[in-house]
Amino acid sequence: MKYLFETHCHTSESSGCASETAESAVKYYKEMGYAGLVITDHLGIGGKKDHWVTHCKNQQAGYLNGKAVSAKYGMTVLYAAEITVGPHWGNDFLVFGLEPQWYWEHPELDDMSLNDVLKTVREAGAFVSHAHPFREANYIRSIVLLPRLVDGVELNANRDDFVNERAEEYARAYGLPLTAGSDNHVAHRQSRLFGVYFDELPTDEQQLAKLLFDQKYTLKTE
Ligand SMILES: [Zn+2]
Ligand SMILES: [Zn+2]
Repeated sequence: MKYLFETHCHTSESSGCASETAESAVKYYKEMGYAGLVITDHLGIGGKKDHWVTHCKNQQAGYLNGKAVSAKYGMTVLYAAEITVGPHWGNDFLVFGLEPQWYWEHPELDDMSLNDVLKTVREAGAFVSHAHPFREANYIRSIVLLPRLVDGVELNANRDDFVNERAEEYARAYGLPLTAGSDNHVAHRQSRLFGVYFDELPTDEQQLAKLLFDQKYTLKTE
């Protein structure tokens, strides 16, 4: 038995760039034969000090809505964050394995450099996958590669072959495992779906990280 999971999905409750709610996403992935999804809304780090907890709770609202309807759809819904750290905006890292409250309890993240944020979340037990590392966009001023501060490299359904081939080369060069996700911002209007087939069903964030660390999964990249 394999358990297909979406590992990169946004909700309109928490990500300004997303257009569909968590419930639409849960419903859609059920219809598409997935066993679960990890909701990975954007969490910008840097300059949020005065309202850090509110900032975190806004990022977690979509996940909570998804979790609330998970039983209704027979889906497993887990929490993660896609972090970007100033001034390296647009260099995105998927942080798997930490629970929502971990972020509220660590406002010091907001004063840290990207390197120190990655060190801190990994020391807390997270598995970090560098999301679409070779994405090019006007707002991304430079590509930042930190191969010794991540645990994996992502293949992304919303990026073209060029970007994903470079990600594969990067992973191979540094002996890093690949993950796969769709970066879905639009639920049922997503044109192609990636994901991972887990060997066991992860029922909480810690188990999710453990399965990733132990490489107990295969990729869905078509
Ligand atoms: Zn987005
Ligand atoms: Zn994303």
